[in-house]
Amino acid sequence: MSNILEETNFILKKYKIKANKALGQNFLISQEVVDKIVESSNISKEDLVIEIGPGLGTLTKELLEKAGKVIAIELDDKMLQILNDRFALYDNFELINNDVLKVDLGKIIKKEKKENNLKKAKVVANLPYYITTPIIMKLLEEKLDLESITVMIQKEVADRLAEIPGGKNTGAITYTVYFYAETEKILEVPNNSFIPEPEVTSEVIKLNIRKEEPVKVDDKELFFKIIKSAFMQRRKTLLNGLTNAKVFKNKEEGIKVLKELGISENIRAEKLTLEQFAQLSDLLIKDSEN
Ligand code: SAM
Repeated sequence: MSNILEETNFILKKYKIKANKALGQNFLISQEVVDKIVESSNISKEDLVIEIGPGLGTLTKELLEKAGKVIAIELDDKMLQILNDRFALYDNFELINNDVLKVDLGKIIKKEKKENNLKKAKVVANLPYYITTPIIMKLLEEKLDLESITVMIQKEVADRLAEIPGGKNTGAITYTVYFYAETEKILEVPNNSFIPEPEVTSEVIKLNIRKEEPVKVDDKELFFKIIKSAFMQRRKTLLNGLTNAKVFKNKEEGIKVLKELGISENIRAEKLTLEQFAQLSDLLIKDSEN
C-alpha cells in the first residue's frame, strides 16, 4: 500500500468524508503521478500557482513546497477544514471557497504578481471531469496572464485538445486550444491511480500559452463563432452547417465565399486548417462591409 493511499484513507475517515461523485471527486493515490505533474509544471519560488479543486490536498502539499504562493480554489465546503488544518503552517497558502467558473482569475493574478513580486502564474490541477471543457475554455478565453496550464483530464478529451487542426480527432476545442497554446502530452494515467476509480482513463497534459497568436484574424469573436458553429453540425458539410447557423446568409453566399477561398463545397469542418478558418472569417467581415 502506498503512503498516499494510507494518508488519503486516514483523512477520509478522520473527517468522515465520502467522495462526492457529482463534484467529480476522484482523489489521486499515486505518488508517481503526483511527482510527474509537479515536475512537468516546472514551478519555482517566483511562481504563483493556481490549483483548481485541491480536494484533500494531495497535490497541494507538493505545490506548496515548490511555489512562491499557491491559491487553491475549491467548491466543496467539506474540504475547507481539511485543507486549513493541513496547511495551517504554510504562509504561502490561500484557499478560495467558490466555483472556479465564477472566480475572477485575472484580478487575482494581477494582484498576487504585484503584491508578492511573483514573476509567472501557472495553473496546476487534477480537474473535476464534469466541467473539464468549460474550465479550459475559461482559462484560455479570458486571456489570463498565464505561463502554462498543467492538468489531469479524461484521455479522450486530452487527445482532442492535443490534436493539430486538420488532423483526425478534432473538435471546436482543438482549434481554440491550438490558437492559444502549444499542447504537450505528459502522461497517461490508469484508473487505479485514484480512489474512487474514475470510469475513464486519464491523461496529464500541459498547455504552454503562446506569446504570439499563430494566425492573424480581424475579428476573433466572429472567428471563434464560425469554428463553434462549424463543429456543432460536424456530420454536415461546412457549407450546410454554416448556412444553418446563419454564418452564411444563404447557401449561395456560402458557395461564393468557399469558392473564393479555393475550398471545396463538400468539405467538412474537421478538414479545415486554422488559417482557412481565419481567411473565412476575414472574408465574411469584408463582404459584410461592402
Ligand atoms: N486535487 C485532488 C486530488 O488530486 O486528489 C482532488 C481532485 S478531484 C478530481 C476534483 C476536485 O475539484 C474536487 O475536490 C472537487 O470538489 C473540486 N471541484 C468540483 N467542482 C468544482 C468547481 N466548480 N470549482 C472548484 N472546485 C471544484
